[in-house]
Amino acid sequence: MAQNSSRPVGRHFLQIPGPTTVPDRVQRAISAPIIDHRGPEFAKLAKKCLDGIKTIFKTTNPVIIYTATGTGAWESALTNTLSPGDKVLMLETGQFATLWKKMAERIGLVPEFISTDWRHGADPSLIEKRLREDKNKEIKAVCVLHNETSTGALTPIADIRKAIDAASHPALLMVDTISSLASADYRHDEWGVDVSVGGAQKGLMLPPGMSFNAVSDKALAANKTSKLPKSFFAWDDMLNMNKVGFFPYTPATQMLQGLVVGIEMLHEEGLENVFARHARLGEATRRAVAAWGLENLNKNADQYSPTITAVMLPEGHDADKFRALALETFNISYGASFGAYAGKYFRIGHLADINDGTLVGALGITEMALQLAGVPIKKGGVQAAVDYLTTAHGGGAKKAAAE
Ligand SMILES: *Cc1c(COP(=O)(O)O)cnc(C)c1O
Repeated sequence: MAQNSSRPVGRHFLQIPGPTTVPDRVQRAISAPIIDHRGPEFAKLAKKCLDGIKTIFKTTNPVIIYTATGTGAWESALTNTLSPGDKVLMLETGQFATLWKKMAERIGLVPEFISTDWRHGADPSLIEKRLREDKNKEIKAVCVLHNETSTGALTPIADIRKAIDAASHPALLMVDTISSLASADYRHDEWGVDVSVGGAQKGLMLPPGMSFNAVSDKALAANKTSKLPKSFFAWDDMLNMNKVGFFPYTPATQMLQGLVVGIEMLHEEGLENVFARHARLGEATRRAVAAWGLENLNKNADQYSPTITAVMLPEGHDADKFRALALETFNISYGASFGAYAGKYFRIGHLADINDGTLVGALGITEMALQLAGVPIKKGGVQAAVDYLTTAHGGGAKKAAAE
């Protein structure tokens, strides 16, 4: 059992799917002296951020940077492009999709929610079918989550684009990529996304408090006629001031210092390598879960999230109690469960500044904690992950080549 000590030893295992661990290099950048946000030094910093973030969204259009969490960027995506009473088509992939829909209702939109069982990502064929039925083109936007963080399902955005085009429908495509950006392949321009919503505290490795809207020309045109109220989030003021390297109001200067370094680190590793690392860690986690004999909440193997895995506990085992025990005993935090599945699963985040060793440690803790909690599991989950990771790194072949 845990000792009665008030000092946790070593590093906390922050295995929630965001906020993620901030690398020391980013942390140091954030602690730089405060500069004048209307001065020449700031304009250079802003330019680096505004240019750099485009390479992450893979867009040549502007990306708007907000001093707000992801929820703010959700709101700005809707209010900057739509008008009161507009119909929007949304997909109930899980808790975050449900929250975005609730927001749409609150700000005066009329969301139509395609419900699902929370165990799959968005189904492009359902979108195509609904859009084909919309003969009068009343639906003004389709809103989907690239990665549903509450369940661990990744939706193929290129297929959603194809579905909209197949129905020859003019609706805007808005995508929440908050928990996939800079962890999974994302292509704002190539996939024809009109507004991409990003956040800083997940793959970008920054603290919470900054978020993004990447926009298309079509979204910028919609902005000109949109009538929902917006002020703090208004794109036009932002874009005008950004052109000369400034913001309409004081931005989070320290977060921008961190953003430059976060982007730099991603490119040093190489985005393709970043994505491959996340895919590898996701697969290792799923192999551990399978070896324990536990179930993944996400039933669709084609849509497994590379950043988070939701692990179901057997009937009669409370996932919240399990998380509390793991935190108290091993100083590890997991993500919680939501909706109809509240208390039935926990989520392992495996994203951002995390390597194979950290993951193996986290899975080792998980195997111990599951046993302490009396959850009936088979041993060998960690071994399954280790075996997979070894193979993924070249296994015996690499060693032989070195000899
Ligand atoms: C984290 C997250 C949000 C919410 O962002 P906040 O920064 O908490 O406001 C929205 N959508 C997804 C998919 C997320 O993972």
